[in-house]
Amino acid sequence: MTALPPKPARRSVVPRAKTAPQHGIKGCRSSIALQFVVSRSGRPHPTASVRGIATLERLREARRDGEQLGPERIAALSEELGVPRARAVGLASYYDDLRTERSSERHLRPCAGTACFAATGGSHLAAVSDLAGESGDRSASTSVQPVHCLGYCYAGPAALDGEQARSGPDLVEQLSGRAKPSDPEIPFAAELNEPVVLAGLSGTESAWQVWPQLARAADRAAVIGAVSESQLRGRGGAGFPAAVKWNAAAEAPASGGPRHLICNGDEGDPGAFVDRLLMERDPARVLEGMALAALASRSDRGHVYVRSEYPRAAAELERAIAEARAAGHLGRNVHGGGIDFDVEVFRGVGSYVAGEETSLIASMEGRRGEVRPRPPFPTSSGLDGQPTVVNNVETLSALPWIVARGGAAYAALGAGASRGTKVVCLSGTFTHPGAYEIELGTSLREVVEGLGGGLAEGGPLRAVQVGGPLGGFLGPTELDVPITFEDLLAAGVDLGHGSLIAIGERIDPRALLAHVWGFVAAESCGACAPCRLGSARGLAAARKLAGGGDRPEYGSTLETMRAASLCAFGRGVPGVIRSLERVY
Ligand code: SF4
Repeated sequence: MTALPPKPARRSVVPRAKTAPQHGIKGCRSSIALQFVVSRSGRPHPTASVRGIATLERLREARRDGEQLGPERIAALSEELGVPRARAVGLASYYDDLRTERSSERHLRPCAGTACFAATGGSHLAAVSDLAGESGDRSASTSVQPVHCLGYCYAGPAALDGEQARSGPDLVEQLSGRAKPSDPEIPFAAELNEPVVLAGLSGTESAWQVWPQLARAADRAAVIGAVSESQLRGRGGAGFPAAVKWNAAAEAPASGGPRHLICNGDEGDPGAFVDRLLMERDPARVLEGMALAALASRSDRGHVYVRSEYPRAAAELERAIAEARAAGHLGRNVHGGGIDFDVEVFRGVGSYVAGEETSLIASMEGRRGEVRPRPPFPTSSGLDGQPTVVNNVETLSALPWIVARGGAAYAALGAGASRGTKVVCLSGTFTHPGAYEIELGTSLREVVEGLGGGLAEGGPLRAVQVGGPLGGFLGPTELDVPITFEDLLAAGVDLGHGSLIAIGERIDPRALLAHVWGFVAAESCGACAPCRLGSARGLAAARKLAGGGDRPEYGSTLETMRAASLCAFGRGVPGVIRSLERVY
């Protein structure tokens, strides 16, 4: 085991965008929209998203400044921006960061994710709310916005105070100034002879070792060949073969604008923090992976979508992008090979479903982050209607190692159709929480009991949540299963982002059920009726049970959600609920 001590905590303050308008949309101070209006050739490329993204940014700025987005203010902003009022209302009522009242003096975002719930039973949310004077003596100077999740699952409960993270059992004392602030780094280790995704963090291989020579030779075949041979599948949950996706995008016709590669840093699955670890501590590896994927998919514009709950990740990526440009790894005619490729950071606005690729693209176009039916797939019609590849952070971070060592070296790791490695994230309710890179095929029991050391509080383990809110629950007798996409599915759970949350006896299963349904109801994007109505019914039934009522009778709700929901979110919920009922 390569046990590495966590590095000292770093402060990170993300500068506010104050850039003057550069795209002709009056009132918008952000520079983000610029990426949508300049084509590869440098000529203006007018798209419908320009106005949408400017509206989104303007609303976000208004919220940051503590403005209340009531009907009159939205009407004024719509007029100022020259967009229909319905569009502004649609955005302001959809995104959590726009919907929630935000004090310009102090904004607290306590984590309502499952790992923090498992740590406190949810009591920290009420305590933070009390601290801010929400119950009784309400203080206008402090606003509170519970969020799913902050990626501090290894040290919960957690909260963001502005953009500064705080976590630990004494969270409320920290926030009130009675205890020393704590913002611990993510502990990590690689359970491999040679780390792949954690190669940089483990000190075995620094970033930007393979890109210069491939860029110089514009050697697309080398990347496609190595990754095809490696059998790498996406680590964001769907497990789709990476090389197949890139080939589809590379072969799709574009209509004059840039072809896009999006790094999906919207790690919204409560319990997962591997993407935060990589974006914050090894962002250069993420960027090198993006450059390689862009070469393979013929993309010429890169974007990293970073959720707003990860402010430090966005800042570290922006710093790494500036360094990469200075070193000649990004920009025009990179390393003299004739390739133009650059990357920008897009900050999310608070939406779990935006992790789904069509929803994420809608969000980047300045629309409500609702899922749309596929086809067309983003590889043929994605951002601004152009061929677009969406890959997750961990997937991209594996590419430098795969290209350097060859696909066969990666394919030699793993089991069955699940090749290579996976970083699993163990919650703070384990004795040894942290991010561990393991070979796929490793026994779940070995990870839970061996690496994790069982429950931190002692006593018997009651359940393990695998793969986040859409993964599922396993009981202590069900852990003898290899960690692969296929074996976990056969066991009734989904690998998802690879999060593991240990749940002890003191968590009331009725409260846990209400917590799961509460997440589903809060994060359903509302685009389809089975999920929108089913999640509301499920939550009502679970609350009734938690209040002393009978065991929920869902009728046809779960089956309708499974069979008729538009995306994996609604379709995945019934399996999770059934796994919870089975375990308890
Ligand atoms: Fe939206 Fe849920 Fe339908 Fe997915 S299943 S599109 S999240 S309402």
